Amino acid sequence: MSKVYAHRDLKICSKDCLCLFVCPTSATNNETGQIDKDTCIGCGACASACPAHAITLLPRKLPPEQAKNEEVLNALKIVITNKIKELTTLRNLIELEEDEIKKKLYQAMYHSFKVIVEDLYRESGYMTLESKKSQEFLTELSHENSDKKDIIKSLLTTE
Ligand code: SF4
Ligand code: SF4
Repeated sequence: MSKVYAHRDLKICSKDCLCLFVCPTSATNNETGQIDKDTCIGCGACASACPAHAITLLPRKLPPEQAKNEEVLNALKIVITNKIKELTTLRNLIELEEDEIKKKLYQAMYHSFKVIVEDLYRESGYMTLESKKSQEFLTELSHENSDKKDIIKSLLTTE
């Protein structure tokens, strides 16, 4: 098995299908739009061919997680909580606003704040699915959402 595999960022992908033509294993030809990790041999042909730079080769085995500073983590938690409150306010403003231009402004702010919150979560130790924090969060979720247990279980790497 190769040390790396290709990952496609669907937000950047322009759907021109060049990666499909160059892939020797048809790993990119997937109904979900994601590259099949198990079929990919990590040759990198798709990443070189992609005009949108939407494909990245990722290591199959991640380096060990670095310890985080508690003080920084606590500060991040406060910023995340405040940003989520701002997102709630913006969602309400979007619903109530009748002026189309203002509505668009609130929508743009909403999306931009969402990206900030995602970044803050990554900085707080949720960078990857395999990270300790993500796994603890998923375990907690599986206890609270029995109807989604199977989906959550498939994301757990520790069980
Ligand atoms: S080559 Fe790049 S832009 Fe084109 S379909 Fe593949 S991932 Fe998307
Ligand atoms: S790295 Fe090679 S095998 Fe993997 S998806 Fe890209 S072209 Fe196909």
